[in-house]
Amino acid sequence: MNLQNRKTPPSKRRGEKTHNPVSTWETMACLICSIVEGHKPSHMVYEDANTVAFLDVRPVAPGHTLLVPRTHVARLEDLTPEQAEALFAALYRILNPVREAVGADATTVGVNNGPGSGQEIQHVHIHIIPRHRGDGGGVIQSLGPGGRVDLTETAERIKKKIASMTKRSSDSNQQTG
Ligand SMILES: [Zn+2]
Repeated sequence: MNLQNRKTPPSKRRGEKTHNPVSTWETMACLICSIVEGHKPSHMVYEDANTVAFLDVRPVAPGHTLLVPRTHVARLEDLTPEQAEALFAALYRILNPVREAVGADATTVGVNNGPGSGQEIQHVHIHIIPRHRGDGGGVIQSLGPGGRVDLTETAERIKKKIASMTKRSSDSNQQTG
């Protein structure tokens, strides 16, 4: 059994419209869900079976676009592998059109992923921000506090975490599949 099936009940298999696993109250209170469901107006620029993109109402640059999964999911790591693939495929599809439509040279693509990062709406949204050389905007590296870290030790810790997660998911696949 693959990761998708492990996380998704049988009623929500591939091809069926997925509804979110969180409480109805949380969904009703979610601004992005109400845009996705058409209850709130937006300047929508793209939609497919899994994703929707619309203009940010508080743009930091002309063409500032938000790409979201239709399913109410708070963080990137909460997406199923299939939802993550669909989201990145949509991002890949719309990046150039968004950039070219406003005559920009480049884009900054970013996600505030979790409340600690300043994420205000707990529904995954990828910011696509068209950029120009000399536009006065910062780079993503300017977001962090910086400081010295032991790179070797940090890399080891991350590799151990990745290895234990990979093991956990393959153990669980063996149990359930
Ligand atoms: Zn939502």
